Amino acid sequence: MHVVVLGAGYAGVTLVRKLERTLPKTAAITLVDKRETHLVQHLLHRAVRTPEIADQLCVPLDDCCERATVRHATVDAVEYDAGQVTLSDGTLEFDAGAVCLGAQTAYYGLPGLAEHGTPLKRPEDAEDIRKRFLELCETGGRVVIGGAGLSGIQVAGELAELANDERADDTVAVELIEQQPTVAPGFPAPFQDAIAEKLTERGISIKTDTTVKSATDGTLDVADSSSIPYDQLVWTGGITGPGALSNVRPQVRSTLRLGQRTFGVGDAVRVIDDNGTMAPATAQTAVRQAAIAAENIEALVRRDGGGFDPRLSRYVYDSLGWVATVGDGTVAQVGSNVLTGTPAKTLKATIGIQHLAGIGAVEEAIDFAQDTFGTES
Ligand SMILES: Cc1cc2nc3c(=O)[nH]c(=O)nc-3n(C[C@H](O)[C@H](O)[C@H](O)COP(=O)(O)OP(=O)(O)OC[C@H]3O[C@@H](n4cnc5c(N)ncnc54)[C@H](O)[C@@H]3O)c2cc1C
Repeated sequence: MHVVVLGAGYAGVTLVRKLERTLPKTAAITLVDKRETHLVQHLLHRAVRTPEIADQLCVPLDDCCERATVRHATVDAVEYDAGQVTLSDGTLEFDAGAVCLGAQTAYYGLPGLAEHGTPLKRPEDAEDIRKRFLELCETGGRVVIGGAGLSGIQVAGELAELANDERADDTVAVELIEQQPTVAPGFPAPFQDAIAEKLTERGISIKTDTTVKSATDGTLDVADSSSIPYDQLVWTGGITGPGALSNVRPQVRSTLRLGQRTFGVGDAVRVIDDNGTMAPATAQTAVRQAAIAAENIEALVRRDGGGFDPRLSRYVYDSLGWVATVGDGTVAQVGSNVLTGTPAKTLKATIGIQHLAGIGAVEEAIDFAQDTFGTES
């Protein structure tokens, strides 16, 4: 019996760690990723202001696995029913598997956007954004961040703090633009309001109801025929499916089933639960879906040899709350309560530490805790 997990982000690594504990020892598990490290992506914006943190956010995949085999290769195509995956260096057959390949930045085919806008998905992107922004701090100018979802909000906050660190807050303008009427679209209204307040406190200007149509070197054209000048453009305006799935995020229902032998988990897919709710593309939902996928893969493995289709577990979207940072400020919504200040900051840091410790990255978790809370070893 061979189980493959494609992609080693939040969904893939969480899934592998659960399968390592629940599958019979006779089942072989392979984790495939094009990178050699798991990226703690939900804290990546912090590397823009604090580049030293990037090491703690990249955990070697071998450290995350106990008995799974790690294979470094790019996934080119997956056959969900036949149980075959085409890799950059060969093929793999599988009896049960999961597609956890995440998403990539969407440019929606808008002219000039991919050419001029820097995305924020990998540590290299954080490095590029930082480098260009430090130049801006020398000369003065305007950085525009397109898209005020979790990544856009959080990178805007880091850039505003970095301008402050560089004593350039008088000469550098940070502007966040969003197509929807509010920042943090899709999140509860009290959370949106608290985020907007923190952004404004840091001197970040917010332009909502602003739809980008195209970009040239130095100008964004927007839907009302006006234009927004910029010296640096960061693009966090949405996601699309991974290249291996032809840039599409296929829709799955609550069993997460993509095909006879294959499940889809995390940002790579659009999950609609039995209540008709579409799960947001977040680390939190990816981790929760991975728990359901682990149960369903185990059910397929234990049915090995045939028989009826097993009864599968069903994912229901639910959230304990949300936390986002705006530079040194943090906003958390827990139930109907909005928290800011130390309680919110502690919550955000604890989520990062828990994630690192939970995937076996104990040293990185300790370093991260020391950096965040300033404790000594
Ligand atoms: C700056 C930023 C801030 C964020 N903040 C938050 C937050 O505060 N809270 C929150 O919940 N979420 C946040 N998110 C979103 C969160 O990071 C994602 O939702 C989460 O990473 C999705 O997990 P995943 O496992 O589906 O995909 P990913 O974590 O993206 O993992 C996908 C994996 O697949 C691999 N892969 C992709 N294509 C291939 C291929 N063809 N072959 C082989 N391997 C491949 C990649 O290398 C990667 O390891 C943030 C995201 C960003 C960018």
